[in-house]
Amino acid sequence: MDLKETIKSHAKDLGIDKIGFTTADNFAALKPSLLAQKAAGHTTGFEHQNLDERLYPDKIFDQPQSIIAIALAYPSKIHDRPPRTGPKRGRFARASWGLDYHTVLNRKMAALIQFIKNTAATDTTIRFKPMVDTGELIDVAVAQRAGLGFIGKNGLLITPEFGSYVYLGEIITNIKFAPDEPMACQCGTCTRCIDFCPPKALLGDGRMNGQRCLSYQTQTKGYMDPEFRPMIRNVLYGCDICQQVCPFNKGKDFHIHAEMEPDPNTVLPELIPMLSLSNKGFKTRFGKLAGAWRGKKPLQRNAIIALVNLHDRSAVPHLLEVIENDPRPMIRATAAWAVSELATTPTDELTTFLKNAQAKETTKEARTEFQKAIDRIVQR
Ligand code: SF4
Repeated sequence: MDLKETIKSHAKDLGIDKIGFTTADNFAALKPSLLAQKAAGHTTGFEHQNLDERLYPDKIFDQPQSIIAIALAYPSKIHDRPPRTGPKRGRFARASWGLDYHTVLNRKMAALIQFIKNTAATDTTIRFKPMVDTGELIDVAVAQRAGLGFIGKNGLLITPEFGSYVYLGEIITNIKFAPDEPMACQCGTCTRCIDFCPPKALLGDGRMNGQRCLSYQTQTKGYMDPEFRPMIRNVLYGCDICQQVCPFNKGKDFHIHAEMEPDPNTVLPELIPMLSLSNKGFKTRFGKLAGAWRGKKPLQRNAIIALVNLHDRSAVPHLLEVIENDPRPMIRATAAWAVSELATTPTDELTTFLKNAQAKETTKEARTEFQKAIDRIVQR
């Protein structure tokens, strides 16, 4: 058995659900499309900023020969959900269930590299560069070319076995492997992800306007544009709609990796306690999730918006406390917006409270948000 076949036959033992191999050839064919995306303002800034490093493996690795692509399947359903009655809850998208997938994939790739080193022990010249998500290369492009699946119109890698519910990682190496066959797009005439995407972020050809993607919107740190606020529903991080509606994901729910199991109370947290979450509480409770990478502020802003979307009027006294005590203008002003949406019986007392709070605001944005909230209440 040659090295590639040996690796493939041991991948499952290493906790890798799919593995494929491709050349270290460049991805220059993607350049015009990436440039057009940037020129159109459709990028998010979360992408690796050096375009050549994204497209040319030899810019980031000396004499690369191959890229090994791996995929790990993650669960799509939570068993033992908390009861739907009771306090209102938010939701983390599936890619933020369990232990941060960057940690999980890096461990798997380290184990794979060790396995290859042990297997090819006589060759001391072999080298590897693993990466996941935040690395230079474009994960879906590598995975597609390595035959793990095809890129759907939602821009995600879709595998025949696990649908798009997979995490991707890749390893550049100086070992020459025979490449696997890339998989062609199998979306056909389906347009479900495009049709169901609330902000119409998908462009129809596998690309998206990242600025309109709800997952991106939940990860920004400033004010959320009012257009997107109702669209996020009760999601605190991520989105998942384009995955949920995809026929290739129907019935796909794999619980293969213990570290990816979601804790229901963590990934479906009660919303009102989120408003007064301390830094320590945030780290203890959410610090290990992928969705913690932007800190607690976006999650708390989204929790306020989710309370409005769920029409939770019991949140009003807690929101008034936020307006009075929270040190962050954006959070106070978003809470003022929420109060104006949730208050059923506008009173002079409430208007006076908001006017007094507005007078203490020092940023123009916060004062404007407060004014809109006051106007909304007065006009009701
Ligand atoms: Fe392709 Fe339809 Fe899935 Fe979108 S929903 S990725 S169009 S199969």
